[in-house]
Amino acid sequence: MESYGQMFEIQGNIFYLDTYAHGMSGAIGVLICRSGGGSVVFDSGMPNSKNNILKSIERLGVKPESVTHILLTHRHIDHAGGASFLLDEFPKASIGIHPFSASALSNPTKIYDGGRELFGEYATPMKPIQTSKMRTLGDREEINVGQEAVQAIYTPGHTSDHIAYYIHSSKILYCGDVVGSFNALRGCVHPTCMYPSFNYEKYKITIRQIRAMDLEGLVFPHFGYVLGRRNVRDVLEKSLSAHMRLGRIYEENISKPDPSKLLNELKTALIEATEIFPGPVREKAAELMARGFIEGFACGR
Ligand SMILES: [Zn+2]
Repeated sequence: MESYGQMFEIQGNIFYLDTYAHGMSGAIGVLICRSGGGSVVFDSGMPNSKNNILKSIERLGVKPESVTHILLTHRHIDHAGGASFLLDEFPKASIGIHPFSASALSNPTKIYDGGRELFGEYATPMKPIQTSKMRTLGDREEINVGQEAVQAIYTPGHTSDHIAYYIHSSKILYCGDVVGSFNALRGCVHPTCMYPSFNYEKYKITIRQIRAMDLEGLVFPHFGYVLGRRNVRDVLEKSLSAHMRLGRIYEENISKPDPSKLLNELKTALIEATEIFPGPVREKAAELMARGFIEGFACGR
């Protein structure tokens, strides 16, 4: 395996790239779709992912000047962090993002601070994105990339600004963090209920909305993808049940006299969900997800 991460052909002109974030394989992936007359990169990895992404793109024969869009699912550092650095290399690209996050990306101090809290030293500084390079996207907005059409679908829950992207020709959805993190080896899905942006009810509604879509594939930044109608449905059901299991843990423990009991039960339930993080920050990730779930359950019901 190359030191900068593997690359997988999903279908025809759609490729999944391991960004080899934090020196780990299987942590953060991005999707690329090349089409006659333009290419699109979905998400941008961490701020220091640029070189690995560029090397993979070069191997695909995609010229930097052919990239017309970087479409971001949400503002978190592991998805939006690399965008401004990639933009330096892709002179014709614009950054697609939900309107809620445009100002945060033009001054990313808060996003970076949030990233530092979770990733510690693994989070490297972000750079502002010029407003003129951003394209704010509405729900169901169509984006033309060469001969390909991609639809932005507003999918709140993991964050309030979350967008998933539907590639029409292949019926593949790049779902960001809103369905959870996927473990292809074990075939399981873990909730991504990160503090402070998670909302339990919206997350559930969004998964049901995705379940109603006409899908042949589901692609996860964390990590990998699933193809085939039945497999997609199976993963979505698993995601819903993992999500609701945490809801039951909340209900069973919220009235207990010791408030740390609920936090600890959730942390234990979420321990496998931390496998996409570097070892030294897994404990912190479990805590932030448990806290995120508690806040997001209370406010979102
Ligand atoms: Zn996220």
